[in-house]
Amino acid sequence: MKALSPRVQDIPRSGIRAVMELADRMGEVIRLEVGEPHFQPPAHIIDAAESAMRAGFNKYTPNAGLADVREVLAEKLRRDNRIPATPDTVVVTPGGVFACAGAFLTLVASGDEVLLPEPNWPNYSFQVSLAGGKTVYYPLRQENGFLPDFDEVQSLVTPQTKAILVNSPSNPTGAVLPRDKVLELVEFARKNDLYVVSDEVYEKIVFEGEHVSPAAFDEDGRVISCFSFSKAYALTGWRIGFATASAGLCQSYAKLQEATVSCVSAPAQKGAIAAITGPQDFVGEMVDAYRRNRDAACAMFREAGIDIAEPHGAFYIVVDISRTGLDSYSAVRRLIEEKRVAVAPGLTFGPHCDRYIRISICKELDYVREGVRRIVSFLLGE
Ligand code: PLP
Repeated sequence: MKALSPRVQDIPRSGIRAVMELADRMGEVIRLEVGEPHFQPPAHIIDAAESAMRAGFNKYTPNAGLADVREVLAEKLRRDNRIPATPDTVVVTPGGVFACAGAFLTLVASGDEVLLPEPNWPNYSFQVSLAGGKTVYYPLRQENGFLPDFDEVQSLVTPQTKAILVNSPSNPTGAVLPRDKVLELVEFARKNDLYVVSDEVYEKIVFEGEHVSPAAFDEDGRVISCFSFSKAYALTGWRIGFATASAGLCQSYAKLQEATVSCVSAPAQKGAIAAITGPQDFVGEMVDAYRRNRDAACAMFREAGIDIAEPHGAFYIVVDISRTGLDSYSAVRRLIEEKRVAVAPGLTFGPHCDRYIRISICKELDYVREGVRRIVSFLLGE
């Protein structure tokens, strides 16, 4: 038989998924490898989706999403993110993952280069290759709080560079781009005529500082911003997110969705309206819980003399494992086998990240504490 397309065959396996499968086979393991909130979504969101199904919202919707959902999202973007959005500049997508994939598939032509941060969420480079583009990594250094140095990024720009991706708050580092860096980013993109793909799926989960959307400073429609209901409202299984970009780009997104997914589930879209317009206490309580987890985990690492860059947002901690002399996959395997705790290997976040592991702290406090206790004991060679 003829070979399958290399576009898909060449996508590497996500290291996080590989660890999940190994941990599934091992039985009793503390699971800190995946970013899946342990909270259930608030009842009013579920009720809204259920009522929508009973009211007949069981059909296809427009490719870009239901008009009332886009209206509500545009208002949210104007209010919370200071992005001058209108329903025409919003597309409802199957999760934040497709908001990002849609950006790359819409922007990138064969041979175009895309600047991705390193460490970064592994799916971006899969999406860039699917689009026929080439990933060029720009480094985020721990000594700089994992923030980009745009002079360094400038040296990576070539005539083929099409776009730069930023992810704030960041998975895996937890860094939150301060306002001055966001302004620098927009200026850098303008000067080099690049698109900016801004992944803001963790926008609500900020412990220190503020979330600033690059699109608030975009004057010529070069920023595409990606959002999600997965993390803020614990709706990972509903597969709903959204993107905002220029009206022209949103039309391309809609065409892409017609060709691939048609549209997002109608009841999920109706539930999303309730999420945005309903009470927001849930979000605050969830963030407080993650902050307690972050504080407890960081204190445990510090007390053990293990240096970490404290995350200011999202729900992950990157831990340097150099002291063990192990590469990240070996460390992860031994952590599962010897200490019964699953974490994500650094190498999955970029080719120069083998000295890290990432732990996910979006679980109950005692569970996270026990996991961190085991990791600390492993790192200290106990
Ligand atoms: N972006 C980042 C940085 C993520 O960590 C994730 C999920 O873990 C996503 C996007 C996609 O999330 P979803 O597709 O569930 O909205």
